[in-house]
This record gives sequence, structure tokens and C-alpha cells, in this order.
Amino acid sequence: MNRKAIKLSIPNVGPEEAGKLQECIEKNMVSSGGPLVEEFERLVRDATGARHAVATSAGTTALHAGLHVLGVTPGDLVIMPTLTFIATANAISHCGATPWLLDVSPQSWTLETALLAEVLATACNRNARGEVVHRATGRRVGAIVPVHLLGLPAEMAAICTVAEEWGLPVLADAAAALGSTLSSGDNPANACATQGIGAGRAHLSAISFNANKIVTTGGGGMLVGNDAKLMRRLRHITTTARIRPGYEHDMVGFNYRMTNLQAAVGVAQIAKLDRFLEVKRHIARRYQHAFSNREDLEAFPSAAWGSSNYWLSGVFLRDLGPGQVARIRAQLERANIEAPPFWKPIHLQPPYRDAPRDLTGTAEQVWQQILPLPCSTSLNDAEQDLVIAALQQAT
Ligand SMILES: *Cc1c(COP(=O)(O)O)cnc(C)c1O
Repeated sequence: MNRKAIKLSIPNVGPEEAGKLQECIEKNMVSSGGPLVEEFERLVRDATGARHAVATSAGTTALHAGLHVLGVTPGDLVIMPTLTFIATANAISHCGATPWLLDVSPQSWTLETALLAEVLATACNRNARGEVVHRATGRRVGAIVPVHLLGLPAEMAAICTVAEEWGLPVLADAAAALGSTLSSGDNPANACATQGIGAGRAHLSAISFNANKIVTTGGGGMLVGNDAKLMRRLRHITTTARIRPGYEHDMVGFNYRMTNLQAAVGVAQIAKLDRFLEVKRHIARRYQHAFSNREDLEAFPSAAWGSSNYWLSGVFLRDLGPGQVARIRAQLERANIEAPPFWKPIHLQPPYRDAPRDLTGTAEQVWQQILPLPCSTSLNDAEQDLVIAALQQAT
């Protein structure tokens, strides 16, 4: 086997990124703060339609800082779906809070809105200060973090309606959702830039530019939102809470800044976003078409309320047990095709063994049957045909 491995989702960088990096080096402009970070923030605002954007060192640090400015404090519970990458839960833990893990919808694999409404109604009270308190643990509920899974947006309009009823802020984990769209409710635009809900309720989205995302900066993140005051506080807290001039700081801040080197790559990358989105859609369509006659190889979910950016492509092996799926993965790996397991639900991870949970069984049922397939924006049709043939043979 000397054909080069077909990877799951790798960065697609070239001369444009090299040119921008060269520019940084020549101008000795490598650190944080500077024109390229500002330019990248502006380009992300343009791409998402959000009024404000604050660049960060990672998606995880964007989530952490976002929760912090939304008022999540130690001891709180923060509601999130159990089916996600562990960073969502870790960001909550970094605030000294604990995830309250809810299950996902069997239709969309995103946070189950009906379950969210139900657990708030049946498991919570309001205390004298009007805060929402989880009766079983006595903890305050600090926020809701829906996740746009695999690029498919969560049901934001409905989730925000529930959040507004309870007065809870919403931070969307839009880590992998750059280019995804919401089609219903008052938010016809970009899934990363949903408007503030209700009477100016705080609402933010966190994006990641990790290497496997559609647009990468090597590592990096961005918070986007429409509330100017909140976004100013975010900028302050992510940049050591320094009051210029001089080394004076008015609170415990974070050093979560993006550097110009990262932003340089981002500026070159985001110019290719539309083309990357087109390629991702093309790849998803070709897999769907190739397996359209196979009832056992289903497409990833779609939803009435929005469209995926098709960040990750693959198939869903509904009727197979873990052993059979592992055998298929192994056969693809032998053909030099990367086919890793999907994210293990958070409630099954040792650090979150004791986190409160309300589960219906969906995440636990589906996660092992999700088979991500190679979908890099550099993947060509011939390579994809090899993947398709290998999977046909393995199933
Ligand atoms: C990638 C990702 C993150 C983390 O982003 P980093 O930039 O790697 O810190 C968080 N949540 C989800 C859903 C992701 O896909």
C-alpha cells in the first residue's frame, strides 16, 4: 500500500497563507495585537453578519471567556448536549461550573429542545433573586450552550425562546459552524450571528479555527455577537484586562489573544471560505448519491430550521452494533483511509462521571454508529471514489 493516506479533514493551505506569513515576518509583526488580527476580525464579521467579533487563541478559550462574561460563576450548572467534543464541557469546568448534560434529538443530533423545556419546568425553581435553581443539586443554572453538531445548527429560535422564558443567556458552540445558516424564526442569516434574543438578552457564538475546521489559523477561535457592551467586556477580559497605558489591570483577565501569525493564515483562509463551502457541499452530495441505494448507509441529519456547512461528511450505520462498525473502520484503515471513531458522549467520559444528566438514550445509541469519512477541501473526486469503493466493499 504505497498510495498516500486519505485523511479525514486536513488543512488546505498554500501560497496565499505563506505570503501573509512572510509579510508578518518581514514587518516583525508576529505577536498579538496588530492589523492582521483586526483585519481577520473584520472578515469574520463580514462572513457571519455579526456586528462584533473578538479573536481568541482557540475555540475552547472563546467558549470559556464567553461563559465568563455571560455571568457563569463557580458552582453553577450550565446546560449542554452530551453529544459534542469535550471542549464544550471543559470550558464550563474552567469557569468552576459543572455541565448539566441533556440528550440530543434523534432527528438532528443537536440539543433536544422539548427535553430542555421539560427539565427546566420539572427540575428547577426560581430563588428569591429570580435565579433558576436546579432542585436536586441546589445549584444555580448559569447558561445554555447549544452545539451546532457536525455543522448542522441547533434549533436556535426555539432554544432561545425557552432561554428567554427562564432568563438564561445562550452561548452557541459554533466551533465548526462557520458558513452554516439558520432558515427559520427571526434569524434568516448566518448561524454564527443569531440576533440577541428577547429584550437584549446576551447571546454569543464561539467559532474555532482549529486545524480540522473549514477555515483554520493553525489554532484559534473567535467570539461573535451583536451586543456592543458585552463584546467590549470580552475584548477586555481576553486581553489581560489591561487599562492602557501602563501595566494596570482592573480584574483577573485571561491571555486568550490571537497572534498576528495566526490571523495572517486566517485572512488568507477566509478569502477561500465560499470555495471551501462549495467543496464541502460537493463532497457531501457525492457520498449521499453514492450510497442513495443503500438503506443501511444513511446520510447525516438535516433539519427544517437550518442548513449545515457540511464541515464533516460521513454515513450513519443505523442497524450495526459496535463490533461490526469497528470491523468496517479497520477495513477502511487497512485501505489507508482515515475513519476514526466519532466523539464519545460527555456523560461517558471519566471527568464528567458525576455531572448531572437527563438522557433519553439517543446519544448513547447513535455515537458509535456515526462513521465520519474523508472530506478535506483538498480531496478530489478520484480519491473520494476510492473511499466510496472501500466502504462499499467493507459493508
Ligand atoms: C473544534 C471544536 C471545539 C474546540 O475548538 P478548539 O479550537 O480546538 O479549542 C469545541 N467544540 C466543538 C463542537 C468543536 O468541534
